[in-house]
Amino acid sequence: MSNLPLIYDLTLDEITQMLQTWGEPSYRALQIWQGLYIQLWNTPDQFSNLPSSLRNHLSESFRFSGLTPGTILQSRDGETVKTLLTLVDGKAIEAVLMRYDERNTLCISSQAGCAMGCVFCATGQMGFKRHLSSGEIVEQVLFYARTLKQQGKRVTNVVLMGMGEPFHNYEASIAAIDRLNHPLGYNLGERRFTISTVGLVPLIKRFASEKRQINLAISLHAATDEERSNLLPVNKRYPIADLIQACKDYVELTGRRVTFEWALINGVNDTSESARKLVALLMGLLCHVNIIPLNPTRKFAGQATTRQRAEVFKNILEKAGIPCTIRIRRGIDIQAGCGQLATDANQTKPML
Ligand code: SAH
Ligand code: SF4
Repeated sequence: MSNLPLIYDLTLDEITQMLQTWGEPSYRALQIWQGLYIQLWNTPDQFSNLPSSLRNHLSESFRFSGLTPGTILQSRDGETVKTLLTLVDGKAIEAVLMRYDERNTLCISSQAGCAMGCVFCATGQMGFKRHLSSGEIVEQVLFYARTLKQQGKRVTNVVLMGMGEPFHNYEASIAAIDRLNHPLGYNLGERRFTISTVGLVPLIKRFASEKRQINLAISLHAATDEERSNLLPVNKRYPIADLIQACKDYVELTGRRVTFEWALINGVNDTSESARKLVALLMGLLCHVNIIPLNPTRKFAGQATTRQRAEVFKNILEKAGIPCTIRIRRGIDIQAGCGQLATDANQTKPML
């Protein structure tokens, strides 16, 4: 296995600097960048616009692929595709493509495994393996972008809601978005990206101060500290009051709304009382609530709520003026819960 650096880890500036040290003309940098992010080439041979000496130099210096696709699962309607991707060190991650109307939304991973230990989450249950590099995050998008390109389509939205906590791997996650957002490359607008965080307050503050156009989603799931700490251990470190304050500051600073995610667990957080507590917590905050029926996992006894209870929950929020959507997990028939496919793959691989 080659341990060359991954070409997608480089910014355009870094490629430009590198070519300078190689004694190549600087316009070659843009040719390489556009080959990678517009043509979506993934082998040095495809760069037919470059002299063969430079192609050779590139292929001796970089990997053009750090992800090997494995098991591919498709939902029955064929609109959701989930791919198990193996990293160069054998660790496994998942990336999902969801086609809906004109949208092609990708759900990508920021880490192999996760250190946050949320009890209902398959990724949390497997523990932390390692951070992904920015290039490994970028390459998940390029992987599906290539397939879509063959059909004359593009990735329209990207959510960092696959495996891992993107704010625990803040720099790489943001750098990956910057690379895909670059106007001379894939040029996917910042507003097309959503970062979902378990609620790492210092990083929410940092993100707010950077005033980006990227959408922010917070995994809330409970409205009291006792209940939330039982589900999301990180709540003991960053309790709800601090989290909501950070969200208020974010809205004030950026003028952008926050999305809250709430996985409805039967008999745990799907009651009318839970809904009323949530209303009290979010009152006056520019936000949207995404209700997701729990996707049951192996190591958590909780079950999904019923459709009827989800509707009651939604009505309570809406009557209080809090916008809210029930997000049906599309492709539930393909082990769509994040981390479920990679759990098996990571268990059968020796830890490095
Ligand atoms: N680590 C980030 C992003 C990845 S998880 C975060 O926690 O926000 C993406 C979303 O899926 C989160 O809202 C998470 O709480 C939710 N999730 C995880 N496991 C789930 C499950 N079994 N059923 C429903 N939602 C789940
Ligand atoms: Fe990590 Fe998010 Fe899963 Fe929690 S829900 S364990 S933060 S991936």
